[in-house]
Amino acid sequence: MNRRAQKATRKQTKAHNRRLVLKTIYDGGRISRADVARATDLTRTTVSDGVAWWIEKGFVEEVGFGPSAGGKPPILLRVVDDSHQVIGIDLASDEFRGAVVNLRGEIRERSTQPLNDRDGKAALALIYTLVSDLIAATDRPILGIGIGTPGLMDPIQGVVRRAVNLDWQDLPLRHLLKNRYGLPVHVANDSQLAALAEYTFGAENNADSLVVIKSDHGVGAGIVLNGQLFHGDSFGAGEIGHVTIVENGQPCRCGNVGCLETVASARAIVQQARTIARDNPGSPLRHFADNPERITIDTVCDALTQSGSVSGGEASADTAALADLVQQAARALGIAAANLVGVLSIKRILIAGSVTCFGSVLLDQVRATMLQRSLALVASETEVEISTMGPDMVILGASGLVLTQELGLFAP
Ligand SMILES: [Zn+2]
Repeated sequence: MNRRAQKATRKQTKAHNRRLVLKTIYDGGRISRADVARATDLTRTTVSDGVAWWIEKGFVEEVGFGPSAGGKPPILLRVVDDSHQVIGIDLASDEFRGAVVNLRGEIRERSTQPLNDRDGKAALALIYTLVSDLIAATDRPILGIGIGTPGLMDPIQGVVRRAVNLDWQDLPLRHLLKNRYGLPVHVANDSQLAALAEYTFGAENNADSLVVIKSDHGVGAGIVLNGQLFHGDSFGAGEIGHVTIVENGQPCRCGNVGCLETVASARAIVQQARTIARDNPGSPLRHFADNPERITIDTVCDALTQSGSVSGGEASADTAALADLVQQAARALGIAAANLVGVLSIKRILIAGSVTCFGSVLLDQVRATMLQRSLALVASETEVEISTMGPDMVILGASGLVLTQELGLFAP
């Protein structure tokens, strides 16, 4: 190895060790330098150097003394949670949503820009407005910008290869934002970030591998394997929305027919519910939205959960048709889950996105179908749950991505 290469390796090792020190303090809560050295197997000098570096940058502070083990009581360290913040952006819903998030994944500021059917350059301009608003809203240093976008991404280059709804093709999102704001930018697909959010900030984040199946406008899966996002060779891992699930089924916006999205997306459920409401003016849906075009996935949820209060034979036939829609969607998601279990033998699957408003009605059918459609011995080991992270999931995943890329906080 020549001297230049040796120097580069030393520099990398130093940076790696520093990150390890920060991660250990972050995970430890309050911890002494000696305990950091014990936990990391680094020398005391290396730990002291690392701690000094992070204290100088403001990430770490000393917070008094721990109990003495005979000699001098040790000084305890902790991470200053709001010393630095990140910006997380979700482009996958009807409005662009963003937040300023601290080092613990706590949301400090929010901003929203309604999309109103804008796409192309107009949609890009909305991101600029959103990011500028968020940067102006905080006085803390920003570590970077994380973005979750629908469609097919090249996360290495930060290029959106194709996002149908936003009419983007080969959009160099990272390059554009990096030039404009001078900050590191990390971009990934929204379903993948939903999975990363579960892995980094989820309630039961002790699983090293998990899959999140997200159903909103489209359907996609995010896959975390051994603590890392799995992108696949052409970055399309988890793009399950356009796998055929119904032979000669409904036409899909991708040009094919019978895709998973045509049955299991929130959008498909809403479209079919609108047809039911149009064909039947006595529909219980009309209780919740006078105009069929105003029906949303929440309207369908309300109509189903409160259908007990709606009387009349016609109404109950209608409710049964709605319930059928949800069962159909759930069966399709169950088949998708079965395929994922078959390929990955994964033990934890979470359902996310706006379809989760159907709760156990949806979940029970997804579970039953998954068990029925796969090798029972493998599938019985897999738990399927509804994600409890709520509507900020993609924002939190995008923030987690920045924290891992820039500081190594959630690196496996
Ligand atoms: Zn399709």
